[in-house]
Amino acid sequence: TQFTDLGLSQPLLDALASKNYTQPTPIQAQAIPTVLTGRDLLGIAQTGTGKTAAFMLPSLDRLATPRVHPIPKRVRMLVLAPTRELASQIADSARTYAKNVHLTVDVVFGGTAPMKSVRAVARGLDVLVATPGRLLDLVDQRAIDLSRLEILVLDEADQMLDLGFIHALKRIVQIVPKQRQTLFFSATMPRAIKQLADTYLTNPAEVSV
Ligand code: AMP
Repeated sequence: TQFTDLGLSQPLLDALASKNYTQPTPIQAQAIPTVLTGRDLLGIAQTGTGKTAAFMLPSLDRLATPRVHPIPKRVRMLVLAPTRELASQIADSARTYAKNVHLTVDVVFGGTAPMKSVRAVARGLDVLVATPGRLLDLVDQRAIDLSRLEILVLDEADQMLDLGFIHALKRIVQIVPKQRQTLFFSATMPRAIKQLADTYLTNPAEVSV
């Protein structure tokens, strides 16, 4: 399988060219065509498998419909990740992939000045990568509007539970639109994670690598 066989539009393929990837990884080959159709996804995959591109490329492609300017504070895609390191990596990848499609990407995480996160969101953005605690702070401060969310990604769900983010996750999912696409990734699938996935996903395709 080649990247050109997966259904991605040319701007995304062009952005990908700068990464010098020769072939999609197994999770990319399986996930990209499915996510492009708008279907929910349950991915059982570790870091290092290429899962970031597997969810980011098709999501950006779906968001890249012609539009004018992002509406301030209105986020179209939210990626929740357990740590600031992972969140930063995801945002860096997203910026690279988004460079030809005029989508704005930003990242917020705990341990930084709260006003820094408030300002990042207030500038206006399409894609927000966040750790759950900081995202919830923004919600509680009414600094962010999630009512226009189209795509929700939960990355490393098992790690987020291990780090005690279950309450934050549940509150966040409660306030985002029910009508959305949800992509759920976890390296392991113990019962608590499976139950969470069952609650948040609708008729998901499953990918395990
Ligand atoms: P991830 O699992 O998303 O954290 O990605 C792990 C590493 O693999 C990152 O450094 C990516 O840049 C790299 N990577 C992702 N997709 C590919 C690919 N198709 N070919 C080669 N490297 C890749």
